[in-house]
Amino acid sequence: MLARVFTATMEGLNPVKIEVEVDGVTGTPNFILIGLAAKAVDEAKERVTAALQNCGIRIKAKRTIVNLAPADLQKTGTAFELAIAVGLLKMFGEISIDTDQTMFFGELSLDGVLKPVAGILPLVMAAKKMGYLNVVIPEANQAEVAILTGIKIFPIRHLSDYIQYAQKLRLLTPQHSTKFTLTDQSNPEVLLEDITGQFKAKRALQIAAAGGHNLHMIGPPGAGKTLLAKALCSILPPLTEEEAIETTSIHSIAGIATCTGLITTRPFRSPHHTVSTAGMIGGGSDMSPGEISLAHRGILFLDEFPEFARATIEALRQPMEDGYVHITRAKGTVEYPARFSLVAASNPCPCGYWHSKLKPCSCSPGKRKLYSQKISGPVIDRIDLHFWVQTQNIKLNQESTNCTLYSTSNIRNSVLAAHQLQQQRFANLPIFYNAEMSPAFIKQHCICDAQAEQTLYQAQRRFQLTTRSFFKVLKVARTIADLEGQEIIGDAHLSEALQYRPKEIVI
Ligand SMILES: [Zn+2]
Repeated sequence: MLARVFTATMEGLNPVKIEVEVDGVTGTPNFILIGLAAKAVDEAKERVTAALQNCGIRIKAKRTIVNLAPADLQKTGTAFELAIAVGLLKMFGEISIDTDQTMFFGELSLDGVLKPVAGILPLVMAAKKMGYLNVVIPEANQAEVAILTGIKIFPIRHLSDYIQYAQKLRLLTPQHSTKFTLTDQSNPEVLLEDITGQFKAKRALQIAAAGGHNLHMIGPPGAGKTLLAKALCSILPPLTEEEAIETTSIHSIAGIATCTGLITTRPFRSPHHTVSTAGMIGGGSDMSPGEISLAHRGILFLDEFPEFARATIEALRQPMEDGYVHITRAKGTVEYPARFSLVAASNPCPCGYWHSKLKPCSCSPGKRKLYSQKISGPVIDRIDLHFWVQTQNIKLNQESTNCTLYSTSNIRNSVLAAHQLQQQRFANLPIFYNAEMSPAFIKQHCICDAQAEQTLYQAQRRFQLTTRSFFKVLKVARTIADLEGQEIIGDAHLSEALQYRPKEIVI
């Protein structure tokens, strides 16, 4: 008797329905898996057989064929094993339950215990979208899908739980959904007030958070660049429910969020400079998301920026422009979202002490020039805020008005207010932040007063601003004006924006 059971797989963030067809024919006893299965899927034969036997099911000596359709799609991963086991149980007549409205996901261990699988959140969402009424998933995955409603989710621990349910020997109850609650990043690792001084850098962080601008810090080792990057997390607005689901889905596909539940705080990714290009943008044998997608809606912190391979840095250009990445390999093409805030940190020279008050620089001018050329111009061009970070003299028990002014809660409130202005400005447009404005929008929304306009044109002549730099200064000035609640960009806003140009900083 032919049995048909349903499951699904992810191609990037796109779900594909998989039909598992199981049939037994007379012939030499054998178990054949067809349908372009990768090695991990092919190994399912052994795991499923062992798991069924350990549940007390005797596999009949038959020529068993399992077909995974559509046949032209390469199947990877281990999430099909529960569906294959249920298909075999139906084909052998051990259970006779109707499974047409149910999707099954789960990896089996040899003793029949279900192991968590990657991508469960987008998979269950896909099952709901495709009109399925029920899903059966591993119990270990249940936290990740706890907020979903509109589909009955049955988490099970062991394959025998489902067999007993299908044989009407026990009941299975669907899990209750829990309401999504906004987390206000109330427990960030580093607060702004934890960092001594650095008021100029903190101001730049405020502007970056308010307008969604990428930033580049330059300074000697130990000046606190990493701490500042971490403190940026504390002033970003909380994730919305939609963003949380999107972020968790990507982490889920990468196999990171399988047991931890929904991600409710913005991701902070800091790959080492030895990361491969595939590790950074995604790909590899399983076409998994890279660091830029794992940092989606959060921060991608690249410390020692000039030490990253040039090809890896260059690969950031397209995603920084578009907010998503296309990965093409022999197996096909997948697309992942990648809208992240880039926080780059560089030493000013190989020894790290060029322009430092602590030590003299021991590098030759030629060496310094070579080092500064390691970062590609087009990538530098896509960063709006460049600034120096100097080592601070630590004074214990130091209290100043600046410390309170630049506290996480104060800065965060101003960032949220600036966000609200941007939401009104870009209502019904596919733009969230000032940093994403195209030249047409810049012309429309960055209106300067007469004095600011004069300063801008003077700067254009004096610094020989390129068109891209010209618009970048205006975008940053727009954010600075938003932080003050001003509709028209004034001279002070524009002059401050000009300080963050790269020209004066890169050696
Ligand atoms: Zn040096």
